[in-house]
Amino acid sequence: MSTTVVWFRTDLRTSDHEPLLKAVSTRQPVRAVYCHEPRFQQKNEYGFPKQRSFRAEFIRESLDDLKSQLQEAGIPLDELHGESGVELKNYAKLHHVNKLYFHDSVGTEERESEQQVRAALPDVEIESFIGDHLIHPDDLPFALEELPKTFTPFRKMVENQLQVHPAYPPIAHFTKPDHHSKENWVQPPPDGFKGGTKAGLARLHDFTFGTRAIDTYKETRNGLMAWNDSTKLSPYLALGCLSPRMIYWHIKRYEREYSANQSTYWVVFELLWRDYFKLVHRKFKEKIFSSRGLNGRRISTRRDPLDFAKWAEGRTGAPLVDAAMRELKATGFMSNRCRQNAASYLVHDLNLDWRLGAAWFESWLVDYDTASNYGNWMYVAGVGNDPRVGRKFNVTKQGLDYDGKGDYARLWIPELADKAGDEIYNGALYS
Ligand SMILES: Cc1cc2nc3c(=O)[nH]c(=O)nc-3n(C[C@H](O)[C@H](O)[C@H](O)COP(=O)(O)OP(=O)(O)OC[C@H]3O[C@@H](n4cnc5c(N)ncnc54)[C@H](O)[C@@H]3O)c2cc1C
Repeated sequence: MSTTVVWFRTDLRTSDHEPLLKAVSTRQPVRAVYCHEPRFQQKNEYGFPKQRSFRAEFIRESLDDLKSQLQEAGIPLDELHGESGVELKNYAKLHHVNKLYFHDSVGTEERESEQQVRAALPDVEIESFIGDHLIHPDDLPFALEELPKTFTPFRKMVENQLQVHPAYPPIAHFTKPDHHSKENWVQPPPDGFKGGTKAGLARLHDFTFGTRAIDTYKETRNGLMAWNDSTKLSPYLALGCLSPRMIYWHIKRYEREYSANQSTYWVVFELLWRDYFKLVHRKFKEKIFSSRGLNGRRISTRRDPLDFAKWAEGRTGAPLVDAAMRELKATGFMSNRCRQNAASYLVHDLNLDWRLGAAWFESWLVDYDTASNYGNWMYVAGVGNDPRVGRKFNVTKQGLDYDGKGDYARLWIPELADKAGDEIYNGALYS
């Protein structure tokens, strides 16, 4: 008997998953695969691992969660180790696979994997779907080639007629109608970042119906320390444990049941930023990895190892940057405000090649996402689509503005334990 296979990649969920629904509709046995490709675990050209333990553990937990969700729907998930093309070819032979469905992925290496799979399975019906945008690219009021050069006109164009598809229902609805019980939505908040859809939904619930932190998101989102300052949904989005549409419709429900305000809107606004960078990546592909980025501006490609090490290890002497870089190494996460400052410092103060910084973030971030990471780095470096020269932050002023009491700096820099906020940020650099 022939088998239909769903190839999971950065879409580790069973809700809002078009390939999975399509597979179930084929009315033949369905299996799922995930391929651990060595290329994603190797060192990058700068000599550090492409992926550290924070993301690896998050993926492990997400796969375990996915496996149990699929199991309940009667679909086995097999983990393969090796190049996707080779592995899927063997797998297809073993299981008599005649149909293969998956979500597309725009990354250079991900596209290579996809091409290898297509070449290795000439007799298999293959279909890919787009599943990681809030607004499906086909629903945009312009063609991809006409993507506005900056975010604001893009936002204005899409926001007026926001066309967000309903999220596809969870797979369990098709196999066991009562499975998706409410308890999945009322878990206690996870301790730090725990991978998987279940933990992602719990976090989403906690930020909205649970604590109603979403009501003040616009005011708190630039905070550096509190768990509820921002949604902390980025790793779930990056690995696809949640889709942006699931989050969007959840917020709409919250707005109906409680109230809508500037803050509830602002989460959607940020999801549009995410979509924008996804579209930039889709349009410009590997150009986003080049030093001159999208606008061709010539900028520094200096790679001084000592200066880079100071930045990466949090020893620049600029407290906000150092605290942020130490937080990254200790937790795999950093707030958006700190990411901006850390990136700005590497580019505009240390005058280093921005791609070194982007690769370091790629290595450490639990929520690494190619489009968001490289898109934001290009933006700070001034080589994005934007005609602006770049975004230089005054890291001392930012420290005073966002960490005036010095709590954040003291938390990550023990050398500053007995210093007050103004001492920390008013030029008294430590060494
Ligand atoms: C230099 C730099 C590198 C970055 N690298 C990444 C990355 O690898 N992966 C990643 O997901 N985000 C990245 N960001 C964007 C942003 O910092 C994180 O998405 C955010 O800090 C995650 O925390 P949160 O989920 O609590 O965000 P919230 O403030 O709660 O925002 C909600 C969601 O909106 C999206 N979002 C918010 N801000 C941005 C933004 N500026 N660009 C794109 N999407 C955004 C994210 O998906 C986020 O989860 C980067 C930003 C900078 C300045």
